[in-house]
Amino acid sequence: MFILANGETEGLVHMVDNAQGGINHTCNCCGCYCWNLELIKRRKIPRDTLMAVHYLRRTEMDACIGCGACGDIYPVDAVTKQDDLPVVDQDWCIGCGACTGPCPTDAISLEARGQEKPAQDVNTMFERIRRERELLG
Ligand code: SF4
Ligand code: SF4
Repeated sequence: MFILANGETEGLVHMVDNAQGGINHTCNCCGCYCWNLELIKRRKIPRDTLMAVHYLRRTEMDACIGCGACGDIYPVDAVTKQDDLPVVDQDWCIGCGACTGPCPTDAISLEARGQEKPAQDVNTMFERIRRERELLG
């Protein structure tokens, strides 16, 4: 718990297997050294090609005081500022939630992106990836 709490304070992304349970792998990633986040940050390959993103950030603008704290957390550079208010690029946000921690007004939440839920466990996740690859040819 100590490592996870530290990671949150440092604005790191808690990366785990993209499954609801039976998690085998976890890592706390930054956008500079993680091969996964860094690839998204470079914008060379579309986010959805690299990662199954099930959630996106939602900002309650009435609650936002424009402090800029969420813009200081930038695992994939999805937040910019316009007239002192945060603007999230929904094409590149990975719904990691790293920006929720420092928000002083709880203006940030995560919203399910669609109906599809992460696989039940890791084996089901790999089976899903295999099927999707087959469909892509
Ligand atoms: S939830 Fe989106 S906007 Fe917030 S830190 Fe993660 S990628 Fe950036
Ligand atoms: S951290 Fe919260 S209050 Fe501050 S700019 Fe971001 S959304 Fe607004």
